[in-house]
Amino acid sequence: MTFTPSVKRIARRVLAALAAVACTLSLAACGADEEGKIRIGIKFDQPGLGFKKSGTYVGFDVDVAKYIAKKLGYSEDEIIWKEAPSKQREAMLQNGDVDMILATYSITDERKKAVSFAGPYFVAGQDLLVRKDDTSISGPQDLNGKRLCSVTGSTSAATVKEKFASEVQLMEQPGYAECATALFSGIVDAVTTDDIILAGLASASRGKLRVVGKPFTQEYYGVGIKKGDTALAAQINNAIVDMIQDGSWQRAISDNTKGTAYMPNAEYNPPTPDEGEGNE
Ligand code: GLU
Repeated sequence: MTFTPSVKRIARRVLAALAAVACTLSLAACGADEEGKIRIGIKFDQPGLGFKKSGTYVGFDVDVAKYIAKKLGYSEDEIIWKEAPSKQREAMLQNGDVDMILATYSITDERKKAVSFAGPYFVAGQDLLVRKDDTSISGPQDLNGKRLCSVTGSTSAATVKEKFASEVQLMEQPGYAECATALFSGIVDAVTTDDIILAGLASASRGKLRVVGKPFTQEYYGVGIKKGDTALAAQINNAIVDMIQDGSWQRAISDNTKGTAYMPNAEYNPPTPDEGEGNE
């Protein structure tokens, strides 16, 4: 049967409308601008790690992501950066919104039920950020009766709830920048997350906030990928090994923590991808 021109026109319009809906819902075939590119989820608000700065993206996670993308055959122009807030990371990978996530993303058994990880490419430790003059908090044991800020969907918030300070009042925010603002303004007494994130926030506060400096967990940063993609995990792990061996990893850490007095824990760093407690 042959369609009349007007039926064809309507069919074309319907198809175009469906494509637009697919695009809005971030389904895979989202049009020409994502074609042949790699979509990488990072944080946009964590100085030194993943930070959006007048249209460019900077930080250690960004540098590791660029290195991996290059090894996978993508130039910097072929990277599409997407914001991956803590709470949305698993869903973004499951929905196919991104191809990989490098966003201070700890490898955990719970998360491995939903996604897979390559790496680890860094090991951080959970710590506390306080106001410069506050000497009443020197570790998680001092948090009873205090107000603490962390981020929804993070291991940091989960650890506080599970292990520390039954009397602590935990306030959860969508990002750590909001927590730092709450700390400045006295709404909370401390912020908790990974030491390397807190170091960047302390540095950005120009001395008003300081990191306590006694990490109490190990956070193995992985590259989040779609569950079960072992071939991609192996390629990413090879890239991480190369990055460590050719000195780029050390340069990226030094460049992105400059001026923060942060030193990675040498007992765990640099880690060996695909080995150790982080990712077996
Ligand atoms: N690394 C921890 C996590 O993956 C805390 C940092 C974050 O929220 O990104 O949950």
